[in-house]
Amino acid sequence: MAKYIYAFDEGQKSMKDLLGGKGANLAEMKRLSLPVPDGFTITTEACIEYLKQGAKLSDTLMKQLYTELEAFSQRSQKSFSSDTELLLVSVRSGAKISMPGMMDTILNLGLNDENVKKLAVKTNDARFAFDCYRRLLQMFGEVVYGIPMASFDKYFNQYKKQQGYQNDADIPAEGLKDICEYYKAIYLEKVYKPFPQEPVKQLTEAIEAVFKSWDNERARIYRELNEIPHDIGTAVNIQEMVFGNSGEESGTGVAFTRNPVTGEAQLFGEYLLNAQGEDVVAGIRTPKDIDTLKGQMPTVYQQFVEVSQQLEMHYKDMQDIEFTIENGKLYILQTRSGKRTARAAIQIAVDLVEEGIITEEEALQRVDIKSIDQLLHPNFDEGALKQAVLVSDMGLPASPGATSGKIVFSAENAKFESEKGNKVILMRPETSPEDIEGMIASEAIVTTHGGMTSHAAVVARGMGKCCVTGCSNIEINVTDKIVNYPGGTLYEGDIVSVDGAKGDVYKGEIATIEAESSEAFETFMKWSASKARLDVRMNAETVPDIQAGYQFGAKGIGLVRTEHMFFAPERLVEMRRFILSDTHDQRITALNKIKTYQVVDFEKILELSGDRPTIIRLLDPPLHEFLPNSQEDKQAVANQLEVPINELEQLIENLNEVNPMLGHRGCRLAITYPELYLMQVEAIIESALRLKAQGIACQPEIMIPLVSTVAEFSILKTNINERIDRIQQEAKESIDYSIGTMIETPRACLIAGELARECDFMSFGTNDLTQLTFGFSRDDAGKFIGEYADKGILAKDPFQTLDIEGVGNLVKMATEQAKAVNPEIKIGVCGELGGDHKSILYFNKLNIDYVSCSPFRVPGALLSTAQCEVEVSHKYAK
Ligand code: PEP
Ligand code: MG
Repeated sequence: MAKYIYAFDEGQKSMKDLLGGKGANLAEMKRLSLPVPDGFTITTEACIEYLKQGAKLSDTLMKQLYTELEAFSQRSQKSFSSDTELLLVSVRSGAKISMPGMMDTILNLGLNDENVKKLAVKTNDARFAFDCYRRLLQMFGEVVYGIPMASFDKYFNQYKKQQGYQNDADIPAEGLKDICEYYKAIYLEKVYKPFPQEPVKQLTEAIEAVFKSWDNERARIYRELNEIPHDIGTAVNIQEMVFGNSGEESGTGVAFTRNPVTGEAQLFGEYLLNAQGEDVVAGIRTPKDIDTLKGQMPTVYQQFVEVSQQLEMHYKDMQDIEFTIENGKLYILQTRSGKRTARAAIQIAVDLVEEGIITEEEALQRVDIKSIDQLLHPNFDEGALKQAVLVSDMGLPASPGATSGKIVFSAENAKFESEKGNKVILMRPETSPEDIEGMIASEAIVTTHGGMTSHAAVVARGMGKCCVTGCSNIEINVTDKIVNYPGGTLYEGDIVSVDGAKGDVYKGEIATIEAESSEAFETFMKWSASKARLDVRMNAETVPDIQAGYQFGAKGIGLVRTEHMFFAPERLVEMRRFILSDTHDQRITALNKIKTYQVVDFEKILELSGDRPTIIRLLDPPLHEFLPNSQEDKQAVANQLEVPINELEQLIENLNEVNPMLGHRGCRLAITYPELYLMQVEAIIESALRLKAQGIACQPEIMIPLVSTVAEFSILKTNINERIDRIQQEAKESIDYSIGTMIETPRACLIAGELARECDFMSFGTNDLTQLTFGFSRDDAGKFIGEYADKGILAKDPFQTLDIEGVGNLVKMATEQAKAVNPEIKIGVCGELGGDHKSILYFNKLNIDYVSCSPFRVPGALLSTAQCEVEVSHKYAK
């Protein structure tokens, strides 16, 4: 027969699955002989059974409950019916993982119309007894019968006002007695039944309420958000009451063994005298700093300090401890690992290692990857955020950061306003290369279309700039210069705040907390790097980004997107001249000009990288991305290129594609215009030669994008090698270069073995690979992916987190085939998934050599691969 109930002294901390976090820790504290009020835990299995059996407490459970109550009475020498030794208990839920939103606590259970009088006599304090009763009536009513807390509070406050009482403590016993009567009447009015007088009935109803709360909507939503399984159930803890509200020698409080905000190794907490549990959090009375307790109750304080040190050493982590003092005696009601800010998480992990409490490997497992992201970017002040008015919470967290500024609707205006010294937020339905200067000038970018790999997302992430894409519940109308959102309308110049880590946009300005590096962070990152199996490279092409990436620990560059180098107006003109050329000669002239820019760029990039590998991806945008859209822009381009506007329009029309993402892009461009890639390759090799002449060695790796057939790759590789041979012969020097391909199409995955015979390296472009595997446009999928997640069709947006079954399987298969035929081949991942924690957990298991991501994601990626390794080594150590 299943054992559904464990007395506290039968359990221990390793039994969290069965006893929940709270129950297992209460049992553990009992084992440590800490002053924990006695009690027992009903298991999570009992909860699962209850829900399976259609919300019915089984006979087996009831039998065990009666037996345990009997044993409990024996141990405590108290009972629900005793005149002098009255048993009162608290009932608390406690899942394996703590879950706000589930039913929490009922105190003083066991009181009824008779027992309240006994308590008054026993304590010689009628006021105290009725205060306990009214609290029970209120908590029980809310938790068990769903009577809104406000129904009780409304009456309570009215009563206080009518009688002219300032504080709760001013209400005398008689008053509280009246209040209890009224509360009982609320039961009749709201749920048509009286408050149950029988303590065991109170208990069974409370147990059922806890079980049911596992399935309430809030709890389900919380579990989905935090990826907690639905089938683990919650335990119920029943514990003898101790009273923090029994006079000035009593109190209740919560303390952390270290500061949960800064991580500082100092007790941090607060308490209230003559108060019960919820008073501390209710905010009606202002709690005192735990330090004050030293003066008020020195012995209790000292004992608490010792207990908290003991618990921290025992659990080897910062603890969050709930305590109650009853008539000068300390009781511990709960301990758990304390929630902490990102900054505190790093500080505490490093300090615990330095204090010899945990190992470096354990420290690496203690920090959530999200904390790293938080640390590298400013965040909104939590207090200020609570007051903020939401414009949209439907956006995608495209690039982290938190910032405020004036709304602008065009790149020109963004530049204009920022040159005047104003902070601006660029809001557009989507962005295109023409918006780059505006993006650079803005604090953040918000779009209504596009997903995590849209132009806005990729470019902003590369710049380390805050960005939210796909805010589908707002309309950004750039013509009328307004933003319509569910709560109203915003105009150009209005201030908004953007949280790129959450994908939220708010009205007005919100105070931020700046990112700051610390010694602890540096130490922590060094440990991560030393344990990482995968190399982490960066996707970057500008000097500040590359410098940032190397500072964050990147081992090289995994992707230079060369099309990002044509954003500056003078370069864009030349690119347009090339695209719109009629003849081969015109094209060569335009390319020669572009080459002069590229040589300078590549020289800078290769110099910064030195002997670290640097993958330069040859050009890959759909050509139309470089072309003007608006009539105004077209006229300007016509003037620049000195062609009549109608001729230009015709040229643009000729280049128009129905499906540009599937069109003339990537290596296909070089099949039709070989001189394009040859110009880029010349620029790469010439800049490497220049550096060599200065004694600087570099390692350019030339990458051909969007390959689907071996022939595409071989033709281009032959051309490139011939051109490089010629340059080297002329220069009488050679460069250490390699040529590889991106794997971005499902076909490339299927023939990866064949491709691997031809190339030195390959890199999965998971943005395009996801797009082409699903057939979901990376720019438009945001419109329906949310609904796919809601309906359970897809667990996650596959552009944010690898679709293991489909895209992941293709990556696995291609990697195995490629390494089988060419064990020397270097394989990486350079799409956005290269910086995603969950995706890295998968890549780490494959025979992949590196991942590459935007510079600000490098530390998180390093920690991800380090955490995989630490976990693996633990598995083998066991
Ligand atoms: C990719 O497709 O994953 C990739 C890295 O290339 P881009 O995002 O530039 O298309
Ligand atoms: Mg791509």
